[in-house]
Amino acid sequence: MWSRAMKTEGIEGTERFQSPGKGRGLKATKHFKVGDLVFACPAYAYVLTVNERGGHCECCFTRSAEGLSKCGKCKQAYYCNVECQRGDWPMHKLECSAMCAYGENWCPSETVRLVARIIPKQKCQTERTPSERVLTLRELEAHLDKLDNEKNEMNDTDIAALHHFYSRHLDFPDNAALTELFAQVNCNGFTIEDEELSHLGSAVFPDVALMNHSCSPNVIVTYKGTVAEVRAVQDISPEEEIFNSYIDLLYPTEDRIERLKDSYFFTCDCKECTSKSKDKAKMEIRQKLSTPPEQEEIKQMVMYARNVIEEFRRAKHYKNILHCELLEICEISLEKMGSIFAETNVYMLHMMYQAMGVCLYMQDWDGAMKYGEKIIQPYSVHYPPYSLNVASIYLKLGRLYLGLEKRTQGVKALKKALAIMDVAHGKDHPYIAEIKKEMEEQK
Ligand SMILES: [Zn+2]
Ligand SMILES: [Zn+2]
Ligand SMILES: [Zn+2]
Repeated sequence: MWSRAMKTEGIEGTERFQSPGKGRGLKATKHFKVGDLVFACPAYAYVLTVNERGGHCECCFTRSAEGLSKCGKCKQAYYCNVECQRGDWPMHKLECSAMCAYGENWCPSETVRLVARIIPKQKCQTERTPSERVLTLRELEAHLDKLDNEKNEMNDTDIAALHHFYSRHLDFPDNAALTELFAQVNCNGFTIEDEELSHLGSAVFPDVALMNHSCSPNVIVTYKGTVAEVRAVQDISPEEEIFNSYIDLLYPTEDRIERLKDSYFFTCDCKECTSKSKDKAKMEIRQKLSTPPEQEEIKQMVMYARNVIEEFRRAKHYKNILHCELLEICEISLEKMGSIFAETNVYMLHMMYQAMGVCLYMQDWDGAMKYGEKIIQPYSVHYPPYSLNVASIYLKLGRLYLGLEKRTQGVKALKKALAIMDVAHGKDHPYIAEIKKEMEEQK
């Protein structure tokens, strides 16, 4: 009885506490060394992204190229077996008949789909779930007072879509409660990605959301199915705060601070943000220019870079855009930025990364390889020692090499990916077994 009570009250080896200047947070009560599992947290609610239907089980997120069977009614949801289908029905029934009824016009955002799944769960759940050992869903920050017009309008659109697409199956809380719930999900929701960082779905993990942010995090979050696993990527001593990173750490301090302020409403004062030690390398200027650029020229180019990043982000979502047009945006911007920025500059790397993604999509393997090879070294410098972004590039490159029958290079790149994943994902993760199998098959 005693041990059961302990289990529901907290997570062994950690403790919720008041972090000076940061509000609540999570600290270690014992020593964790690099690669140790700090804790795992099942999703409170989750949803598989529409694009991955058929490739993953809707219930357990298991990946399968074939062999999943589909829901006989809507023919859109796929499952490992009858158990998974039954297990998912309380959630899938919210969408199954509506998808049939609306057909092409069924288009709620992923946030709306996730919130629709939280509502019935919240209603029937009176006790703490295993996802809420140190923080409950109701306690998540909403930051309602800090939302600007754009964010408020987005919330209203989402609430309208929720009523529109889910009216037959949900008892809706009142508008004030819905506004709060959407705001909570917007700043505490997680996206689940695979080992190449492809988007698989969205979820809420209240316990994981308790951790504060640092640009030099001492843990990394990975996913095993729909369970979040938190592992140490730095040694953590008892009483030390446990920090996760909320954002992509590629960018210079100013950009990170802006992003954190906009999405999470705080100003980061971590050691990277105060020392700015990596900013110079991240903003590297091209060497061997006959006349070095003026400060003003550099400033203009940074502004151009930020705009083109935003332009590309939007363009990716246009329905009728062609992939060669996306590639063209990358190439033109790389050419323009390349007149001032070095190839290791993060804005250059951002566009090369996008270009690599487009090449992979178009099955232009040589193109993808060319960009991957340019990205990998500077990525390893700009990111922290254990980074999922770095691992994913090694993985993509390794798989490209193997596909192009460059065995030695392939195995070498995959080994680099594994060295990071052993720590971040844990040595027994199914992804690691898969990669090892790929390496074996090449012998
Ligand atoms: Zn399954
Ligand atoms: Zn169905
Ligand atoms: Zn920071």
